Amino acid sequence: METNSKISAKHLKRTAYLYVRQSTVRQVFENTESTKRQYELKQRAIALGWPAERIEVIDTDLGQSASTAVDRQGFQKLVAEVGLGWAGIVMGLEVSRLARNSMDWHRLIEICALTNTLILDEDGIYDPTDFNDRLLLGLKGTMSEAETHLLTARLRGGLLNKARRGELRCQLPVGLVYDAQGQVILDPDSQVQASLHLLFETFFRTATAHRTARHFRDQGLLFPRRILSGADKGKLIWGPLAVKRVLLVLHNPRYAGAYAWGRGHWETQTNGKKKWQLLPRDRWQVLIVDAHPGYISWQQYEQIDQRLRQNAMAYGIDRRHGPAREGPALLQGRVVCGICGNRMTVRYHRRGDGLVPDYWCNRNYMEHGAPICQKIPGASIDAAVGKLLLEAMTPMAIEVSLAVQQEIQAQLDEADRLRHKQVERARYEADYARRRYMKVDPENRLVADSLEAEWNEKLRAMAQAQDDYQRKRDADRKVLAEDQRNRLFSLVQDFPAIWKDPKTPYRERKRMVALLIEDVTLLKAEQIIVQARFRGGATTTLKLPLPLNAWQGRKTAKHVLAKMDELLNEFTDAQVADRLNKQGLKTGAGGSFTAEKVRWVRYANGMKSYAQRLKESGMLTSQQMGAQFGVSEPTVINWRKKGLIQGRRCDDRNQWVYFPPSRALHIHQKNKKTVDHRPSDQKSLETTVGGAV
Ligand SMILES: [Zn+2]
Repeated sequence: METNSKISAKHLKRTAYLYVRQSTVRQVFENTESTKRQYELKQRAIALGWPAERIEVIDTDLGQSASTAVDRQGFQKLVAEVGLGWAGIVMGLEVSRLARNSMDWHRLIEICALTNTLILDEDGIYDPTDFNDRLLLGLKGTMSEAETHLLTARLRGGLLNKARRGELRCQLPVGLVYDAQGQVILDPDSQVQASLHLLFETFFRTATAHRTARHFRDQGLLFPRRILSGADKGKLIWGPLAVKRVLLVLHNPRYAGAYAWGRGHWETQTNGKKKWQLLPRDRWQVLIVDAHPGYISWQQYEQIDQRLRQNAMAYGIDRRHGPAREGPALLQGRVVCGICGNRMTVRYHRRGDGLVPDYWCNRNYMEHGAPICQKIPGASIDAAVGKLLLEAMTPMAIEVSLAVQQEIQAQLDEADRLRHKQVERARYEADYARRRYMKVDPENRLVADSLEAEWNEKLRAMAQAQDDYQRKRDADRKVLAEDQRNRLFSLVQDFPAIWKDPKTPYRERKRMVALLIEDVTLLKAEQIIVQARFRGGATTTLKLPLPLNAWQGRKTAKHVLAKMDELLNEFTDAQVADRLNKQGLKTGAGGSFTAEKVRWVRYANGMKSYAQRLKESGMLTSQQMGAQFGVSEPTVINWRKKGLIQGRRCDDRNQWVYFPPSRALHIHQKNKKTVDHRPSDQKSLETTVGGAV
């Protein structure tokens, strides 16, 4: 037996603790070694005089690498045992690593000193009551803490050095592969290459990631992707090209033949979770341009980069940074598209002084470049849902609905029992199929195969039944919990007053909506169908007329249109405007009429002009008249001025139309002697009336 002056009989009567811990950093270097070394340590303790049965191994921290003692049960247990004076000696590989930071470590030394416990590692035995040993142990602890940092840095440093030389092999994006010599080359698969070339070409043509994705979708083209982990690792699969993937490809410098490393880092978010964050290019750790062949040039890569940044400014950031939570859209975050079932987003547009919400379904657009599903003006929907809430939120209504709910609950329990029976049945059948399969002679392949297929089928049916059961059960469970019910009752007392108060902030309104409404499904057809689903499962469907758009909102009133139509039988646009104004009639926007406005309203409502109406009644233009008599147009006009033929001024630019020759002559003779001194405007009108009869 080995003897050591520091070890007394008192020590040997107590237990020896062997503390085993493998942190991640240690595992990297010594994983294979450590078991052997621990065994040696144990042998050492035996040699020093501890019986094997009094050597206790504490290894509950195995595989953990927490940096404080709080997270490590094993270490705390060790401290407790030492504190109780049960430990004669504490052993560990490089014992200073017993604790991961020096505070823990100094505490352990302190306690060891108080309880006269020895410490042993591969370097030797320490007695913490001895000043020199204590100094040494303290130093070891400090060193150890520093080493944790050093090791991490060294590990990363090794990688970094390799990366600096462009030698660190990284996961290559699809379309690039390592050849047998470890050089990066374009994927020899020509279809993969073609897909990438097409992606870049399409982007250069269309300039946006959305349109690129849409092109692929419209053409029915798939894009390759490599499975990064699992049993099928490295396998190539083809799928639709999402906008997100287009962006990943466009942002990846490796497609430009550049070696880049350290493009991102892990950032701790406010919720404590870590998120991988890409860094701006000047903060990348390594960038080697022209390191290997690529699909585009570095110059093109930079062009793309610039274009994407412009796009982001134009489409994304500015718009999205609108008034999100503070905005007036009441149903924000709880609107579901009635066409595709995705959540709809809110966008605001300015009308007058305020912001007006629109509900957009653009998920398919964002992800696949597909057209926007639907876009619905939100103001009238918000108003209708607000009204619905006011109606629903009377104490009486709540009382009734809760009573009904209890009734429903009882029925649901019954339904639940029945559904569960179906699951049991499916399970029994699957089990039966399994037993049949197990019994068959494996030599009899045909029977075995068909039985296996049947077994699989039954398994599927069982999974389906379980799924159905769980889903329906979850849906049933969505009835109100007790505390929700109480909050609802207190809310209902004050609700109308708060809701109607214009000072109530949008945020509060939204909170109230959230408490009452699960979601609202919108569908724009001939009407807007609004289906509100209340918490607790009740639904209400509203039908709203399609709101008028800006132009329709300024539409001319119906009775004004009728009057205009009537006047156009006899008057030109300017004359109609004049007469409408004299009657005090207004345009849709509330102003007075001009010839220009009458013409615009005519076009918009498909009304024929005075000239068209006259021509359709058989009157001829001066050109047509000239052709009839074999004379020139000026001659026709001259005749009219002399009163030889009769016509009417049909527009405000002094164009005339004439009665066809037979009638013209007839009228000519009838009115021959009449001399008219009235203004020309009136004159033609009167002649018209006289002549038409
Ligand atoms: Zn949709």
